[in-house]
Amino acid sequence: MGGAIGLEALYIKRDDLSGTEYGGNKVRKLEFLLADALRCRAREVLTFGYAGSNHATATAIYAKRLGMRGISMLLPQPNSRAVRRNLLASYHAGAELHEQATRFLLGLDTLLQSIGHAVARGKRPYIVPAGGSSPLGVAGFVNAAIELKRQVENGLMPPPDVIYLPVGSMGSAAGLLIGLKLCGLATRLAAIRVIDSTRANPAALASLTRRTLAFLRRHDSAFPTLEFDDDAFEMRGDYFGERYALYTPAGKEAMELIRAREGIPLDGTYTAKTLAALIGDARGGKLDRKTVLFWNTYNSGDLSRVVAGMDYHALPRRFHRYFEEDVQPLDRCLERS
Ligand SMILES: *Cc1c(COP(=O)(O)O)cnc(C)c1O
Repeated sequence: MGGAIGLEALYIKRDDLSGTEYGGNKVRKLEFLLADALRCRAREVLTFGYAGSNHATATAIYAKRLGMRGISMLLPQPNSRAVRRNLLASYHAGAELHEQATRFLLGLDTLLQSIGHAVARGKRPYIVPAGGSSPLGVAGFVNAAIELKRQVENGLMPPPDVIYLPVGSMGSAAGLLIGLKLCGLATRLAAIRVIDSTRANPAALASLTRRTLAFLRRHDSAFPTLEFDDDAFEMRGDYFGERYALYTPAGKEAMELIRAREGIPLDGTYTAKTLAALIGDARGGKLDRKTVLFWNTYNSGDLSRVVAGMDYHALPRRFHRYFEEDVQPLDRCLERS
């Protein structure tokens, strides 16, 4: 893959293999969040995302494995085959699926849902924020950097000069920033924004990083205070395209290239746009003589067997349109290729 884009080597962090049932970056956050849910003796775990949310699906799957039930509050998004797969997989994991009309109602909906559940079932569900990006969830990604440091020490790769990582709810980026600094890795983070800049921006990432640091120090006073250099990360929106979850031609090319060269499947919403940024920089000569790590945050486990033969009519009515309406044009092209 590296050779095809003019790099001597390209390293890939295979978080797509982070879980047996469902991989990807959310597994690292859920390791902590679901442990807390168990500690609270929760029977249900309520979370938020867009209709095709990998986070909501991962939460549903791992909540079930731990004897809890997922409840997903889902926002509308552009259609794709990945949306269909995740909806069916969540349903298969026994999750209760709700569609939310708009983000503005998020707070109110949450409250009403919680009250509704409290009244109906006598117990409040454990609430996981969108993307699992609370300080507790972010702790999972501090660990990710420690893991990377060990891999460098074991000779699996030289210390990376730069990591390309997609940025949505920003928890992965915040955790890596803290962890890299903690481990003494002088790696720069190329944070590729794949969501609106009102939700992901440098100030919000700095704030989440600060809150996580405060959280860690509250629980362990030995955790060092860390100062971040101005160039520790660069957040970029130049490969975002028009909107969240709308695929881009550059992303499609990146997806096809890595699929052909490495057999690794990416998603059009996050990882494809991130790899497209990396490829663009490589071709532009910006990565010459640099050690580059692509952090693959997407699940590569095959859900098709899980969802094969499932009838979407079993889902709540409001989700039927994802199966009855066409997928977006670029996803249709990918299907044919
Ligand atoms: C959620 C998600 C991201 C974004 O991670 P954040 O920690 O929310 O910024 C990236 N890639 C994939 C595949 C995801 O599902």
